[in-house]
Amino acid sequence: MEEREVVIIGGGPAGLTAAIYGKRAGLDLVVLEKGSFGGQIIITNEVENWPGTQHTTGNDLAKSFHDHAEHLGCEFRKATVREIIPGNDRHVVATNVGDIAAKSVIIATGATFRRLGCTGETEFTGAGVSYCAVCDGAFFTDQDVAVIGGGNTAVEEACYLTRFASKVYIVHRRDEFRADRLVCERAACSEKIVPVWNSVAESINGTDMVESLTVKNVETGELRDIPLAGVFVFVGTVPTVSFLNGLLERAEGGWIKTDARMQTSVPGIFAAGDVRDTPLRQVVTAAGDGAHAAMAAHHWITAGTC
Ligand code: NAP
Repeated sequence: MEEREVVIIGGGPAGLTAAIYGKRAGLDLVVLEKGSFGGQIIITNEVENWPGTQHTTGNDLAKSFHDHAEHLGCEFRKATVREIIPGNDRHVVATNVGDIAAKSVIIATGATFRRLGCTGETEFTGAGVSYCAVCDGAFFTDQDVAVIGGGNTAVEEACYLTRFASKVYIVHRRDEFRADRLVCERAACSEKIVPVWNSVAESINGTDMVESLTVKNVETGELRDIPLAGVFVFVGTVPTVSFLNGLLERAEGGWIKTDARMQTSVPGIFAAGDVRDTPLRQVVTAAGDGAHAAMAAHHWITAGTC
């Protein structure tokens, strides 16, 4: 079986930063990624809070992380992890392209978009329902769309969609957004953005493509039909952990519990970035987690303690 000092699962900001720090510390490591390198950030158009860079795109930032790791000689592999089999001095990472025995494993698999669960959401995914404004926004040029949610993602992506759509409803279940003040102020300046307060999506309707959204006012119970062509769902995220099959202690929602050094409940297995139980999920915190995890893995391998 292939043997490594460290296997990093996930090629987003946390995994790539762990790779950079791990490689610089002299660790023999491989980064596994099942999709494209960069993680969720690659579908974000505007990144304005990466220190030292006033404005960049998620794709450019992800590419710079990847190029940096590649320049240091990090090895990357396309692989889907099926499970991690814990051991005393070796953990086995089982993948669709073979198994790897590793002294240490860093889980940096991130999170994916939470589904809304309303009628029509699954049926119209790809036919008017989307989870990515950068990917699909241009399809709705001069048409009306709705964004569901009130967090940073929902309000930022609604602002982005105003470049294309004629009107962008933001359907939120409360009467104020959760998003940061600056983001809310930007949305308030747009004449194209129309908040629909105290409302949830009841059903997404159409024949072949989305034609309308039915929203329900949570205070009055009143139903309202909004004619539109697209519905963008941004109601938070869920951790990518299905391959763990119950391994590792988890917080509510499935987020992996770690200590301050990213150590999970199994010695030698670390978690970094959005997948872990953390109060802030940002590129900068994911990168910080990745650095901690790599240094903790180095300490575990060289000193034999966490
Ligand atoms: P989030 O902050 O968890 O917000 C999710 C939003 O969806 C909330 O407004 C929530 O409503 C709403 N929601 C949840 N379930 C719902 C349901 N079933 N029906 C209707 N609405 C529902 O998620 P996020 O916006 O994806 O952000 C995730 C993390 O990334 C956050 O920490 C965020 O700050 C960060 N982020 C940061 C930036 C940035 O700094 N520029 C950009 C994007 C994301 P309630 O408010 O009522 O709970």
